[in-house]
Formats: sequence, structure tokens, C-alpha cells
Amino acid sequence: MSRRPRIAAAAAAAVLFAAVGAVLVLTTPWNPLPGDVPGGRVKADPALDFSPAEIARSRAFDSAVTPPAYAGLLTGLVLILVLGLTPLGSRFIAWTTARVRRWPLRVTVAAVALTTLLRLAGLPFDLWSESVLRRYGLSTQSRPEWLLDQLKSLAVTWVIYTIALLLLYALMRRFPRYWWAGAAAAGSVLVIAVSFLYPVAVEPVFNTFHKLPQGRLRSDLLAMAERDGVPVKDVLVADASRRTTSLNAYVSGFGSTRRIVLYDTLLKSPPARIESIVGHELGHAKRNDVLWGTLVGAMGVAGAVCLLYLLLTSPRLLRRAGVPLAAPDGPPNSAGSPPDGPPPAEPPSAGATAARKARGTGAADPRSLALLLALVAAGTQIGTPVQNLVSRRIEARADAHALDLTRDPSTFIAMQHELSVRNISDLNPDALEYLLWMTHPAGPDRIAMARNWSGIHGVAVFIAAPSASGVERPPSTGTAVIAVFIAAPLASGLGGPPSAGTAVIAASLRTRP
Ligand SMILES: [Zn+2]
Repeated sequence: MSRRPRIAAAAAAAVLFAAVGAVLVLTTPWNPLPGDVPGGRVKADPALDFSPAEIARSRAFDSAVTPPAYAGLLTGLVLILVLGLTPLGSRFIAWTTARVRRWPLRVTVAAVALTTLLRLAGLPFDLWSESVLRRYGLSTQSRPEWLLDQLKSLAVTWVIYTIALLLLYALMRRFPRYWWAGAAAAGSVLVIAVSFLYPVAVEPVFNTFHKLPQGRLRSDLLAMAERDGVPVKDVLVADASRRTTSLNAYVSGFGSTRRIVLYDTLLKSPPARIESIVGHELGHAKRNDVLWGTLVGAMGVAGAVCLLYLLLTSPRLLRRAGVPLAAPDGPPNSAGSPPDGPPPAEPPSAGATAARKARGTGAADPRSLALLLALVAAGTQIGTPVQNLVSRRIEARADAHALDLTRDPSTFIAMQHELSVRNISDLNPDALEYLLWMTHPAGPDRIAMARNWSGIHGVAVFIAAPSASGVERPPSTGTAVIAVFIAAPLASGLGGPPSAGTAVIAASLRTRP
């Protein structure tokens, strides 16, 4: 009899994932720069624009920061998979919640305990990454400041996870067979809510923002947005310099919360370069990339919830995870180990007890939480390469937009060069790095695109040859600090880009240059 909800959930998952696939295939700019380049397209070549010293520095930084990134990713994944797919996780939860009676409190304690454990496991690798960043001058934070940031991101994680999990377990208890339908809808709403609220509720936790003061730059940027036909509420400056020396800007929020945010580190760059970056951000705004990302994320999360239901109600997986099973037809099987929870406060009738027990067994038992997080981590990791692939194309389209808007490929190339050098970006990522980390095309890819743009539009590029002189001061990766907050407990990959657990939600939140 429990086949019907499973068939319905499987059908819903298939429809939702097919819809996500169709939207991605149809709306991703697979060819972000259409047009014929006289003489053929040029390919990315770091040696064209970067000095041997810059290339050597990028290599050295990459090999210093890659080990902690991979080690942290792997450790986070292995830990959560071991906890979720063996009885260890459910025992850990039973132990941490042994003195807790009410289920909402048990879910809360379990969520906080598990996310904290995962975060602690990732901490050594983050410290390792952070020390590399500091050695290369990318991080400007003292260790206590850095630790405070970690604590804040953990607190944000607790809040988001606890709210989401309380909703989920309430639905599981109330509707053991059809909770996935409500949870899919609630998950979608949560993705959209977080995307809207992120700029106003979460960003201020990490940075202080002030309006870009009246002046030439501000009026030029707003005029450019106007010319572009993109409504921008405000241009803000984030005090990123107290954390990092890297350059960045992004558009966050949409509708009435949309604003362009510049890192204060960027303000020292020549205005034309800032316009080049803001042109890129306007490209995101014009195409509503954040809104689309949010909607696709919402559908993806809904599909994932349906899939989660199928897996979480699998007796084999539950048994493997050491979670007591519910009997197939309602009341729990008395042969299975009883929930660890304390007995009801007052002795109710036998029927009421059975009903109450049935509500908290199987997937609805808070001890299933480790299994749940393991499935989410695995799903997220599987989805990451696809997200990155699509993201890189969308970023390339925003680059093409910046070029169309400024018609200044020389400045664009100079800015990309500055970005890559200051952020010590990987100039030559390997295939695995593209799959796992690269949300943006590499600097030389972006520069090659500018050359191709200039070929298509007949606008000459004037570039000084790469200087053989000293290396500029550094950085990049620090930017991941904030974006990864949702994923924080699952892994750590300051090494560049997002990390193992980068939740579906996080990916849809913001876009960077
Ligand atoms: Zn971008």
C-alpha cells in the first residue's frame, strides 16, 4: 500500500528534474559570444598577457592551496558519508539527544551537534588554507578575526539548518506518506526567501556597507546602468579590505533589494576598470541571472526532496544507518529497537501510544538526520560540476555584456589581468579543477574572449606587453568565505571556490565577477 506515495514521488522527481534539465539546456548561453572572428578565434594563452613571474606565482600558489582544498573536501564528504551510511551517525545523535525529550528540541540539538562536528572536522583544513592565503598576502585578517568569522558562519548555518529541519521533521511526523509534497513546496519557498533575504539579513553579519559617495564614479556607474536599461537601486561599498586584499564586486538580491556591491579594495583601481567590472554585473542583472538561478534552484530543491523521500524511506538505507524502521502499515514494528527517546510523560491509551510512536519512527526519527545530511551532501557534490558548467557560460555571457556596454576590450583585458594577478587565480586549471571549483572561466579564457570580441566588432586592442617586473601584491579565494556559509558544515574549500557541500541554495544566491 505504501507503493502509491513512492510512485507519485518518483514521478514528481522525474518531472522536476526534467524541467530543470530543459531550462538549463534551453536558457544556458552555450555560445556566449556569437559571431565570426576574422582569422579564427584565439585560444586562451597565459603567456600572452602574464609575465613569467606572474605565471610562476600563480603555479606556486595553486600548489600550496590545492592540498588543503582537496583534503578538506574529501574529509568532509567521507565523514558525513560514514556518519550517514553507518549506524555511527544515529548513535552520535542518540548520544547528544539522550537527555532531550521533545522532538523539536531533539531535531535542533541533533542539527546543531552534527553541523558543528562537520565544521570542526573541516577547521584544520580551513586554518591551513587561511595560512596559505596569509602567506601570499591575500588574507588581511588576524587569526581571532578569522575565527570570529567562522563562528558567525556556523551560527548562520545553525539558524538556516534548524529552521529547515524543524519544518521537514514536522511534515514527516504529520504526513508520513506524503511529507515530500509539502517539503518540496516548502523547500522551494525557502530557497526563494533566502535569496531575497540574503542581502538584507546575512551580508550585514559579515560586512559593513556604505553608499558609494556622490561623485564622478557613482554618477558614471549609475549612468551606465541607466544606459543599459537595468534598474539598480544603489551602489554600495563593502568593507572587504578588513578581510582580504582580493578584488570583487557582485549584484545581490533582485527586485527592490537589488544593488551593486563593490569591494572597497576595488576603489583604488582606475574608474574605467571599475566600469568594466560593473558592466559585467549589469549583465547579470539584465539577464536576471540571480532570479533564474533562484528559480532553477527552487525546482532543483523540490526535485531533490522527492528523491530524498524515496531514499529516506528505503528500509535498506534506514537499516544501514541504524535508524529504527516504521512498520509498513503505520504502527511501528515492536521487534525493531524502540526509539531512544524517553517514554511519554503520562501513560496514554495503547492506541494513542502506537500512533504517537508511528509518528516519530523511520525517516521521522531525528536519528535519521545524519543519513539525511549524507544524502544531501552526496547529491550536492554530484550536482556541482553541472552547476559550475552552467555558471561558467553565464559568467562568459556577462563578460560579453560588459564588452558590448563599454566597447573597451583593452580596459577589460587590463582588468582581467589585474583580477587574476591580485587574486592569484589559477591561470591554467586542470579538468578536475574546472569540474569541482571553477564557477568562472579562468582569466586567460576571459581575456581570449575579449580578443575575440574585438575581432568580431573591429575594435582594436591596445595592451602593454606583460611586464617582466616584480609581482603585484596578491589574492582571491577569500571571497568564498561568505558564499560558502551554507555549506560550511559540510566541507571547506577556501582553496578557491565553493566547497563540497555548497548547497543548491548557495549557488543561486549571488554572482561574482
Ligand atoms: Zn559574474
